[in-house]
Amino acid sequence: MGVDFDKLARILIAEREDGCRDRIVIGGLDRLLDTWLRDAQSSVLDPRSGRPPRPAEAVRPASSAGQAQTTPKSEILEQLQGYAQKPVTERVTAIAATMRALQSVRQDHVGADDAQARSDDRPRERRRPEGPAPSVRSPVTAVRGINTAQARKLEALGVRTVEDLLYLFPHRYDDFSHLKTIQELHYGEEVTIIGVVQEAQNLQTRRGKELTKAVLADGTGSIEATWFNQPYLVRQLTRGHRVVLSGRVDQYLGRLTFQSPQWESWTGDLVHTGRLVPVYPLTEGLTARSLRSLMKGAIEEWAPRLTDALPTSLRQSQNLEDVVTAIRQMHFPNDTDSLGRARHRLCFEEFLLIQLGVLRQRFHWRQEVGRPLAVDAAILDTIISALPFTLTAAQQRALRDITDDLRRSYPMSRLLQGDVGSGKTIVALLAMLIAVANGMQAVMMAPTEVLAEQHYRTLTTTLQGITERLRAAGAAAADWVGRTQVGLLRGSLTLAEKEERRRQIATGQVNIVVGTHALIQETAVFQDLGLAIVDEQHRFGVAQRAVLRQKGHHPHILVMSATPIPRTLALTLYGDLDLSIIDELPPHRQKIITKWLAPAERERAYAFVRAQVEGGRQAFIICPLIEESDKIEAKAAVSEYARLQDQVFPELRLGLLHGRMKSADKEEVMASFREGESHVLVSTPVVEVGIDVPNATVMLVEGADRFGLAQLHQFRGRVGRGEHQSYCLLLAESPSFEGEQRLRVIETTDDGFLLAEEDLRMRGPGEFFGTRQSGLPDLKVAQIGDTRVLEQARRAAQDLFDGDPALAQPEHVALAARVQQFWGSATDLS
Ligand code: ADP
Ligand code: MG
Repeated sequence: MGVDFDKLARILIAEREDGCRDRIVIGGLDRLLDTWLRDAQSSVLDPRSGRPPRPAEAVRPASSAGQAQTTPKSEILEQLQGYAQKPVTERVTAIAATMRALQSVRQDHVGADDAQARSDDRPRERRRPEGPAPSVRSPVTAVRGINTAQARKLEALGVRTVEDLLYLFPHRYDDFSHLKTIQELHYGEEVTIIGVVQEAQNLQTRRGKELTKAVLADGTGSIEATWFNQPYLVRQLTRGHRVVLSGRVDQYLGRLTFQSPQWESWTGDLVHTGRLVPVYPLTEGLTARSLRSLMKGAIEEWAPRLTDALPTSLRQSQNLEDVVTAIRQMHFPNDTDSLGRARHRLCFEEFLLIQLGVLRQRFHWRQEVGRPLAVDAAILDTIISALPFTLTAAQQRALRDITDDLRRSYPMSRLLQGDVGSGKTIVALLAMLIAVANGMQAVMMAPTEVLAEQHYRTLTTTLQGITERLRAAGAAAADWVGRTQVGLLRGSLTLAEKEERRRQIATGQVNIVVGTHALIQETAVFQDLGLAIVDEQHRFGVAQRAVLRQKGHHPHILVMSATPIPRTLALTLYGDLDLSIIDELPPHRQKIITKWLAPAERERAYAFVRAQVEGGRQAFIICPLIEESDKIEAKAAVSEYARLQDQVFPELRLGLLHGRMKSADKEEVMASFREGESHVLVSTPVVEVGIDVPNATVMLVEGADRFGLAQLHQFRGRVGRGEHQSYCLLLAESPSFEGEQRLRVIETTDDGFLLAEEDLRMRGPGEFFGTRQSGLPDLKVAQIGDTRVLEQARRAAQDLFDGDPALAQPEHVALAARVQQFWGSATDLS
């Protein structure tokens, strides 16, 4: 670990101000000073490795900064050791006094060392003496033995800094820890032996390959090992040389042998053999062996300089090991137990960082001065009574949560979760009307244009209906509700139209704005934004929300999602939000009949679609998911559409919808389907979210085994929105085992929560959310499914946060920095 002088100074100053009562550092100043002393010693000896100066340093000219310091260094060390015997108060003052001297010595030393470490002859800017200490944030070339060429190769693995390298973890380990004698070997085992080379020679095989053959003996027997095309090995495997060799025991002409085993000289500190051997992701030009060696050196040299983000007290109470041990063990574990402990510690840290970021976000958010809105209960009731239906109890509860929030002096930050079709849109509209009644604007963002377009239509027609009924009842609210302007920001607008719309938003002529996230974020400047609603965005993560909050004067925020998220996960990804759940569907919703059909039943499925259309209904046909690109997906949809139109349903009118169509064309296709002009809508999975066409009764999904449960549930939610019995037909060519499992589950379950949990269990969080899309920073060790660690970290984060929300106490300084670093790349959360 490097010595952080600033931090120490802050601690010491705080200690002095507190009257030297030793209350500043948890666990006492003694422990801190011990660690500090150790770090100071190693950094004075050699800031790179903690080892005594290397021979190269000793032979450098006397003018070099390195040599001139021998005396002050040892003096300081002596002083420091002296302090260690003295009482705390005395030590504090004395160490503070020595600090400056030590600091300047150390920085000179760093400068010299840096110059010495130059591996190429290009003149390089010499670091100024008062420059920063070598930190793990230095470029990876700071690691001894890594040149610029290797650095470039490492960059392909996402490694830029030394720290990146230390956190480049093996993706698996080969277990070469089973040490055996040659006599004990059996065919097929993965083992490690230690033996002395008896002889080694190069031979030519009959096919002209070069073969190196060595015989090893260990006192219990001897065995042959062979390698192809590495003739240089004979120079390394000299007679009498003791080596460790790991690999699978093979057989040749009835005798046991090793073929191309891993090996290394016996030194007592093994890298490639005789242990759990790390296997790193490979990249062009770096062999497994060279990356491993390089990593070994880097860890020895640099891991001790990592700052532990977790305060000692926390590590003790949670029974976690320190970061240096954890990093070492992640790379070169002593055994599987140590590896498990290392992983646990790092996993805990990542979850803690997530959680602290989320709590901090929530904390900051609560500090913001919001815009309390007046909610006139009487007016709201009048409007509700003018709706075409009665709100469900769950909708009323959600609305009450929201109105309570809107009245508060800090901005609302709420997640409204409700299964597909539970009626979130109307709740959103009512909330937006409250903003409008307060003379402010509201915005509703949708993930796709098609959905934005639909919201625009729903909102306008619902508003018209409400106004008419209010007028008929002679209610005063009819006036301003009738004047409420909804504006759609769509991609198909001409530049001039867009400019005009932008003006209307900026001047407040439009009260409610609807559009996609992208469009709204790029174009809209509001006159006075009071409420922002994000629809259908289970992937709209913490980071994106933070960006949204910068818009307007801290608008109230409501995020709506139909993807039910298991509790622990919700606390993580949405920990900055309060939660309302609509757990009840509007009455008289009929159950959708779901059938998984065999490929041979495709014709029957088509016949069923035909029959439904003859009965006046409509159908969706979803094309398979194609992951390569949406261009290929669109192309596939076009040809499927042509096939269905020409060969299967020549008598019906089909529409086609895919992601690469112009938005005007999309709107036209949707309009004609909504109006019943087309009977069947053939679509890529873009139709997944939100679409509401009550007359559609069949959802036919091709390649259904390729979709996740949550997505299939979304598709199914596109039908059964009107009064007619609806059907979901699933076709799969040759589903995998997991695919079959999913189809079986979706066929029998219509509970969105159960499906989401099942989805998470089956596919893992990576696919369920995708850390990128969820706005979470990259997780290197933790898996969202590690719910036990997640829960442990969550509680620890809450405790930390309750005691020190700003993480300002000295023992939390490193942790605060780490939270910032972790979240920094995602966004500036504060
Ligand atoms: P989602 O929660 O999936 O966004 P929507 O808001 O699109 O659901 O609502 C689905 C359908 O249910 C819409 O047609 C809407 O008009 C209707 N709806 C909403 N609330 C009620 C209710 N309380 N009673 C009857 N129908 C309702
Ligand atoms: Mg919706």
